[in-house]
Amino acid sequence: MNVMVPEHRAILHCDLDAFYASVEQRDHPEYRGKPVIVGGGPNDRGVVAAASYEARAFGIHSAMPLQTAGRLCPDGIFVPGDGQKYEAASDAVMALFAERTPLVEPISLDEAFLDVTATEHLFGGAESIARALKRDVREQLGLVLSVGVATNKLCAKIGSDLRKPDGLVIVPAGGEEAFLAPLELGRLWGVGPKTREVLEGWGLRTIAELAAMDVSVLETRLGEHGRHIWERAHGIDEGVVIGDGRTPKSVGHSHTFDRNTLDGATIESMLLALSEGVGRRLRGQQLRGRTITLHLRVAPFETRTRQRTLAEPTDDDLKIFGTARQLLRDALAEDRRNGRTSPVRLVGVTASGIEIGRQMGLFDHVRTTRLNAALDAVREKFGDTALDRASARLRERRRFSDRRTKKST
Ligand SMILES: [Mg+2]
Repeated sequence: MNVMVPEHRAILHCDLDAFYASVEQRDHPEYRGKPVIVGGGPNDRGVVAAASYEARAFGIHSAMPLQTAGRLCPDGIFVPGDGQKYEAASDAVMALFAERTPLVEPISLDEAFLDVTATEHLFGGAESIARALKRDVREQLGLVLSVGVATNKLCAKIGSDLRKPDGLVIVPAGGEEAFLAPLELGRLWGVGPKTREVLEGWGLRTIAELAAMDVSVLETRLGEHGRHIWERAHGIDEGVVIGDGRTPKSVGHSHTFDRNTLDGATIESMLLALSEGVGRRLRGQQLRGRTITLHLRVAPFETRTRQRTLAEPTDDDLKIFGTARQLLRDALAEDRRNGRTSPVRLVGVTASGIEIGRQMGLFDHVRTTRLNAALDAVREKFGDTALDRASARLRERRRFSDRRTKKST
């Protein structure tokens, strides 16, 4: 098979804006447009885990003591945070990433590198993938994603951060050095407060000024580190995106209604849209689910789940919908029998009991073969990027639970 090998890599860095706070604002419409501080109460001893953009306007940022945040913004909405909810939102976002490329390297719950070098031709180019991801994350998950697109991780990462929130920065191939030139030194990997102090002591302010230095001078004074930051200042970064090779335990979508509803038709049509989303994601990752779960949150906070395990695992929208709808009708009928009619606040559907692989049609087979051939060709040129590595997400999860533990002591 003839495979075109691209001239350069196509890397995306995707980063959700004010992640924990945005999840809270999504799930609590009354929080929207207001300063939301996640991490605990204004009198607690812990630190801020996340602040909404409205809270940042008061000078609040993550890692700041909660009590400081409480003084800066006494009327802010302080919430303890819900690690499980953020993990579920993260899983949903990562699953969208995985639809575009198998090479997804999660950096934390809300951040990942994607190498789309081998797959961009399937989706109309790296910029189209970036725009589609931003749209899907907004429409399907109610969150806002900033993306940087570049030929390496360094420029993609700096790009995603440059125009937050809702940013999209594209660094053209060959334009890496010019892109970095006007930026301040601290944006460069490897230039922490200590190195920065040294460089500023020499009168350097911008990345361009660092790039203009004689590399041998940097090497003499800073050793190997000096050469590394000089290379980065020239936009050079060979770091590869390492796919985490994981299979999700479940694939699910949910929707919170703006107004609680008792209308069966409204709930069912939403359930259809959600089931289609789940089916599409399963097919995108070549997965099938054996168990379908319906989630219902009724006013005010009671959450109910009902599930059914199918004879055969499925990735079919209508099979998922049919099962979820029956579960919904059973649940509502039971409520009526018990004389309860609580309006529905949230409806969700999840496929679990995930199995890899499905019976592929001819087109799928051709596409998969092409994809694999393209991946192999890219690996040959740019190195094997498909190594497994312990996921950084685990570290992030532990960090969050540590924070919660600390807070309660
Ligand atoms: Mg983020």
